[in-house]
Amino acid sequence: MVEAIRDFEIEIDKDEVCHLLGYHKGRRPKASISSLIDEKVDKARDLIQPSCFYLLMDIKEVSSPRVILENGITITVTSDILSWVLAVCQKTAIFVSSIGYGLESRVTQLMEEGEVLKGAILDAIGSLAAETAASCLQDKVHEIANSVGAEITPRYSPGYCDWDITQQRVLFEVMDSSQTGVDLSDNCLMTPRKSVSGLIGLGWGEKNRIKLTPCRFCTKKDCPSRR
Ligand code: SF4
Repeated sequence: MVEAIRDFEIEIDKDEVCHLLGYHKGRRPKASISSLIDEKVDKARDLIQPSCFYLLMDIKEVSSPRVILENGITITVTSDILSWVLAVCQKTAIFVSSIGYGLESRVTQLMEEGEVLKGAILDAIGSLAAETAASCLQDKVHEIANSVGAEITPRYSPGYCDWDITQQRVLFEVMDSSQTGVDLSDNCLMTPRKSVSGLIGLGWGEKNRIKLTPCRFCTKKDCPSRR
């Protein structure tokens, strides 16, 4: 059964918003931009409606690049990197998390009104909130894993590493849009835009190996997501 997590708080870190807006390496926004960011962080609290959904599935078989998952329904994930990650796991949590439509509707409205800076700041806050919602889901899965003596892998999403974006369709075979409120377009983009889908592995046994990322052997040296 797909489990839901709703009504949790999303804390927005202003420094991270500044980082997303391009203020790194000690650069700080000038006072007028700084107060605009404060104002938008405050406004965003009323616009963000976070929710997360997950389904725990058994790993039936790992035969690189395919991983077969089962829980009433059988799906096949295809990725060499995920095959390596899940080879030491017994279960996965398939998930979708989102912050809803409120914030992105306001961003669209601001852009249409020509308020590009305000729209860009709010959009950056939305991106951060979407990542934070996914992290809350990850914390929940970690809690579940720890309660049964298991460890979890980092989370992975279609479109990252060697996991093709079209694999979103596989995830949405188990994530019912009518329940999650997140839809998938023909070109595999999610609406609301500020949504995250993916999987997290859970395993008993080789706990240090489970926590390892495949970045150590990955050949994409300039990958911005390297962990
Ligand atoms: S370096 Fe990048 S592409 Fe390679 S495994 Fe790490 S996150 Fe994935």
